[in-house]
Amino acid sequence: MKDSGIDTSVAHPARRYDYLLGGKDNFQADRQSAHEIEKRHPTARLSAQENRFFMHRAVRFMAREGIRQFLDIGTGIPTSPNTHEIAQETDPAARIVYVDNDPLVLVHARALLTGTEQGRTTYIQADLRRPDAILADDDLRATLDLTRPVGLLLIAVLHFIRDDDDPRAILDTLISALPSGSIVAASHATPEHMPAEQVAALRAVMERQWRDRTGTELAALFDRPDLRPVAPGVQSVSRWWAEQAPQPRPAVEEVASNGLVARVV
Ligand code: SAH
Repeated sequence: MKDSGIDTSVAHPARRYDYLLGGKDNFQADRQSAHEIEKRHPTARLSAQENRFFMHRAVRFMAREGIRQFLDIGTGIPTSPNTHEIAQETDPAARIVYVDNDPLVLVHARALLTGTEQGRTTYIQADLRRPDAILADDDLRATLDLTRPVGLLLIAVLHFIRDDDDPRAILDTLISALPSGSIVAASHATPEHMPAEQVAALRAVMERQWRDRTGTELAALFDRPDLRPVAPGVQSVSRWWAEQAPQPRPAVEEVASNGLVARVV
């Protein structure tokens, strides 16, 4: 079952998410876990897709604001368009560092590294719970200039960081390393748009590390004197800058995920 660190017998978030997005890079255990989730949250596919659309809007916004280098942590199995494709539409010289801790993402890293000739993309296998190691990585340092603004993406990954892994300290380390003018975007599963029984049922089928957070809890993680949320602040990913999203917009309870974009000042 185990091959190069890839265990196909248990569900992995990256592969399950790939399945929900209609991808082929997943195994029976991942599909079964996705079906268990769909039983509790029938719009899980829509939710995964909406999360991608939020990421597209956030990266376009960053690119319009002049951001030319991106750090995408918890990037997932490649799904097009990915961060580099969107960023390099605005500037073919944009640089991207992708980070994930799932060994299967590494297998597909080549697909993440197909940037433009002028741009540059790098993949690092690392864990968000060790942000110092990410920031010190030689490939990251060779790709990103941390004295210039960076777009930091934490899309649908923070709900895999439990409270005892201290997400606040992880964010402090990452955000403190970014110069003023940087922009941070995050999306996060929330319990507040679903009935309590549905939330409980969903939690029961999720991995040990799963921790959904309310919008208030998400805002608190990013409450720092050097961060200014971009209006409207924490908002359902369905509603965040809805006028720039594909129409019609799904209901917040179908998506059950919040997004936030904030500037480093
Ligand atoms: N950001 C992508 C993928 C979200 S799925 C998108 O929104 O489309 C969540 C991803 O986070 C998976 O690929 C999973 O492997 C990764 N992940 C979960 N915990 C992680 C950790 N501690 N460190 C790095 N990546 C992690």
